[in-house]
Amino acid sequence: MNTIDKKRISLKRAAELKGRIADFLEIRATIPKGLEAAEILAGRKRKILQVLNGTEADWEDYRWQLKNRISDVHTLGKIINLTKKEKWEIAEVGKHFRWALSPYYASLINPDDPYDPIRLMAIPVYHELLDTCAEADPMHEEYTNPAGSITRRYPDRIIINVTNECAMYCRHCQRRRNFGKKDRPKTKAILQESIDYVRTNKEIRDVLLTGGDALCLSDTYLEWIIQQLRTIPHVEYIRLGTRTPVTLPQRITKKLCKMLKKYHPLYINTQFNHPIEVTPAAKAACEMLADAGIPLGNQAVLLNGINNDKHVMKVLNHELLKCRVKPYYIFLAKRVKGTTHFNTSITDGLEIMEYLRGYTSGMAVPTFIVNAPTGLGKVPLNPNYIISQGPGYVTFRTWEGKVIKYQDHKTRDIKELLSQDYPVNDLGTMTS
Ligand SMILES: *Cc1c(COP(=O)(O)O)cnc(C)c1O
Repeated sequence: MNTIDKKRISLKRAAELKGRIADFLEIRATIPKGLEAAEILAGRKRKILQVLNGTEADWEDYRWQLKNRISDVHTLGKIINLTKKEKWEIAEVGKHFRWALSPYYASLINPDDPYDPIRLMAIPVYHELLDTCAEADPMHEEYTNPAGSITRRYPDRIIINVTNECAMYCRHCQRRRNFGKKDRPKTKAILQESIDYVRTNKEIRDVLLTGGDALCLSDTYLEWIIQQLRTIPHVEYIRLGTRTPVTLPQRITKKLCKMLKKYHPLYINTQFNHPIEVTPAAKAACEMLADAGIPLGNQAVLLNGINNDKHVMKVLNHELLKCRVKPYYIFLAKRVKGTTHFNTSITDGLEIMEYLRGYTSGMAVPTFIVNAPTGLGKVPLNPNYIISQGPGYVTFRTWEGKVIKYQDHKTRDIKELLSQDYPVNDLGTMTS
């Protein structure tokens, strides 16, 4: 084929590919993004600082943020617009399930929209009490706890729950049974028991510190845990689970990064669920962690009314990659008492996966996970690409739905292949 024909074919295909994202490009512009809302966020910050009688310097101090977590309807009512009925409902729910959010996270809420995605994640709704689902611990964490505050669900890795504290008590939290009334970091005795379990079980090579939120511990207490784990030769790396880059980015300080840096390899997984959460402050926090050499992953939860939309989820993953965060998982929300208004169908998740693969960078495609009940582990679910399979072939479809019958060759022995004889006179052509 001549060059002109090749170019003509390439241009035709390029036009076809352009058409594949026309709808996304239009909708993308209408999806609110934290990185494009700097001015709006600054305005809300000033208003909240007035309400709380704080200064700009206070705002940047995570201790001030934590001390001033908003957890009463009176204060909340000065920050977002609430009807009398809503105030009563929030207070009622608060009698059963604690709620609190950092002033920073409150600044992400559109004060006038009762269905604002950030508001839905942070502020109680009366449905929490109407929920007929009875399950408080569908993962049977209390039955997979061999020692200390460990959850063990896999052969080579465990979770250590280090505290019940969070900068914000997510309304969709699967561990809301642990909210309690007070923040309770695990005692040294409990943590020591957990660490000793890791020490005596040599197959544990990956330890996850989570909670609650691992970064709600003080630097000193957290360092004590990490340091202990680092003395165990079979612990290959440590992971921290934290939502602070999202809910309290001020927690990511130079001092914290300097401390964490000493204990590599260290990984952090966080939980951004909506592009609004990816703000300039969140980006700065992620960049500090990344600059400290910590690879960042995102574990989004698929939430009704927040991100169960193929376009929103795609934009979220793009915003995250701009902040050096790699989308790792999308979890189907479990059915937990008080949270079922957030549940979606598995089909919602599969549709999102279908619309990510091929349509955007593989970097922006996380794994969709359904947790098997009773703590039997994470199960990846994917749209079906394989259509049929037989001797010597696999028929599959591409991301666009083009069907291909692909020849499947048996794997051959590498040593046999490489020792295959060839005519000796070929050697004659060698010059050195
Ligand atoms: C999710 C989880 C892990 C980590 O799973 P990965 O797939 O390795 O990220 C480990 N232990 C428990 C109990 C978990 O729930």
